[in-house]
Amino acid sequence: MARKTEKVLGYDVDLMTFDEAVSFVIDKIGKEEGLQIVTINPEMIELANKNKVFSNIIKNADLIVPDGSGIKLALKLKGIKQEQIPGIDLAKELLDSCSFMGYPVALIGAREHVIETTVKRLRAEFKNLDICYYRNGYFTIQKENEIIEKLKETEPKLVLVALGAPKQEIFIQKCRKELPAAAFIGVGGTFDVWSGEVERAPEFFRVMGWEWIYRTYKQPSRLKRIYKTLPLFLFKAIIDSVKNKNHSALKEN
Ligand code: UDP
Repeated sequence: MARKTEKVLGYDVDLMTFDEAVSFVIDKIGKEEGLQIVTINPEMIELANKNKVFSNIIKNADLIVPDGSGIKLALKLKGIKQEQIPGIDLAKELLDSCSFMGYPVALIGAREHVIETTVKRLRAEFKNLDICYYRNGYFTIQKENEIIEKLKETEPKLVLVALGAPKQEIFIQKCRKELPAAAFIGVGGTFDVWSGEVERAPEFFRVMGWEWIYRTYKQPSRLKRIYKTLPLFLFKAIIDSVKNKNHSALKEN
């Protein structure tokens, strides 16, 4: 399937449905064509604008799905209707498919008790899921090579990395050189939710695209991150859409 993308403040975002995103990844895994999936949100874009390494990683990613409702809104301002694809849901669906296909998976990230509970719960939920390797996300740079060696030994086809952005994307980029046939996805705080450590927003909030409001209410420490990035992102997205409209109007005249 060919990729169709649209730029949001200079970063490509893939335009596809949730199911198409799952098929895209599973198809690549089947063909042993590794990939890096980025689940993009406004905070990441603002972070990338200040961090060249992170910015290049996003620009070179193989699939960039709109995780945040802010990205969906920015696309809407450009007249594009795109569903939100939360990384946490995409990751779960990919695990389901891997379990069905017999593809081994690895999980890296979060605190020790969180990853332990996550693995236990996933094994209970997906009886055939082969979790070939897992470990917590608190390790030094010196330890990274050891972890990459473990991944090479255990040969996962899908690796979920939950270290928060941009740490997880930078770590994934390092891994990819050594495991070119595997799919990698950065999943942020997903294991905290799967382990039951953090409560997921009720469906109403998710459907309305207000999951971030609920998460901020539950984890007020996130407020600092959001108020620094979200208003600026929205302001830029509006300016961008106005510029776009003017550009199209000029072209038509
Ligand atoms: N984390 C980690 N190692 C680190 C820093 C963070 O494993 O060095 C984990 C942390 O325990 C949490 C996740 O990364 O599970 C980051 O969650 P956050 O909510 O910040 O990510 P978001 O969903 O906002 O991207």
